[in-house]
Amino acid sequence: MKREHLLTLLILGALGLGVAAGQFVVHPMDAELRRAWVAGLQSAGEITFLRPLFMLIVPLVFASVVSGICAIGSPHRLGLVGGWTMVYFGGTTLLAVALGLVLVEWIQPGAGIALGDLEAAARSTYETDVAGRVAAAPESVGGAFMNLLRSLVPENPIRSAAERDVLGVCVFAILLGLALVLTGEPAKPVIAFMDGLFQALIRIVGWIMWLAPVGVLCIVAARVGTSGLGALAGPMGAYMATVLLGLGLHVFVMLPLILFLFERTNPYRFLWDMRKVIVTAFSTSSSNATLPVTIEECQRVGGCSKRATNFVTPLGSTINMNGTALYEGVAVSFLFQIFNYDLAWQQQVLILITATLAAAGAAGIPSAGLVTMAIVIGAVNSSLATVAPDAEPLPLWTIGIIYGVDRILDMCRTVNNVMGDAIGARLITRIAPDEPEPDAPAA
Ligand code: ASP
Repeated sequence: MKREHLLTLLILGALGLGVAAGQFVVHPMDAELRRAWVAGLQSAGEITFLRPLFMLIVPLVFASVVSGICAIGSPHRLGLVGGWTMVYFGGTTLLAVALGLVLVEWIQPGAGIALGDLEAAARSTYETDVAGRVAAAPESVGGAFMNLLRSLVPENPIRSAAERDVLGVCVFAILLGLALVLTGEPAKPVIAFMDGLFQALIRIVGWIMWLAPVGVLCIVAARVGTSGLGALAGPMGAYMATVLLGLGLHVFVMLPLILFLFERTNPYRFLWDMRKVIVTAFSTSSSNATLPVTIEECQRVGGCSKRATNFVTPLGSTINMNGTALYEGVAVSFLFQIFNYDLAWQQQVLILITATLAAAGAAGIPSAGLVTMAIVIGAVNSSLATVAPDAEPLPLWTIGIIYGVDRILDMCRTVNNVMGDAIGARLITRIAPDEPEPDAPAA
């Protein structure tokens, strides 16, 4: 059996085994023992897979963006690639939220949910697990936007790197790449160095992938073991089904359709080629951690050019969050439904816009979307206050209602986030194809 097929088999096997072990071994344990097992499995997964991936993010983003920009070669072409990339990011994210809002209006998952005992549990979950992170995050769309702008203008690229601020590193790398191109002859050794560095880092990604089976098994068992698949049938069942249906339609119908319309190739072949990326995103729940795998697989088997991949996927891993935006739209509407608020079309449009911005501001790490959701709730509350000044605003502790089932949804929405980037790289390849190698036979 080829090494490549063996690895695929091992990773997919680990995924199945992780779900089964989480559901049938870890979840049934008594609470104390389960906590210990989940913590142990989580640590094992972190050490074997997550930390090695995180180790590569900053150097890889830097080397890949610089060498990608140098390969693109001219500011004019970079403007074209950058412009279309932003149109694609914005367009697909808006479509994703719109899909979520249509589904939540149609299914009405919040109708008929009695708060009852849920309230006390949700309040205490919010206070212990969410409030601190919400307090540390920007409160309003304006604040989130300012944070985004600050990342776009990093005052110290070394600090951006140390804080794993992918956007800041990208911006510095784009500027350096452009400057290297314009410098010409004297900069050629630096460009060659960046290229060599990039290829060496990609080689390390290949080594780390052999750790994936162990990492995936441990992390998935820990995640599924925490909430159990039974949550799908509990009071949150309709809400989870709405989010999962939206994510499924987005990643298996909407994005493939876009790919087919522009590429005229079989989009499901591309999804299948991206299977390692999908499993890594699902198990790590982090677009950033998945980024090294996304870059490697897009170029190795996905038919994406180096020019497109090296520019689109690092940026996408931090600002293109289709799945998170869809999820935030559904979750916020669901919470308002539980409290019987009748949201008018103006508030729906507000959710559409704020969920898109809040998702762009969410970091590519686990549970980031749960925190930036507070921005969307705040925006809808302010809008409601202008039309009905006496109405009570939706309290933020309601986020505690959905916290318990967030882990599984986080795994799924991260797949959408990452596949949105990969499909973007494939589409942008049309306007930024690689040049044929000098010794390659002409096509
Ligand atoms: N976990 C997601 C990601 O890394 C972000 C989120 O929605 O929480 O893409």
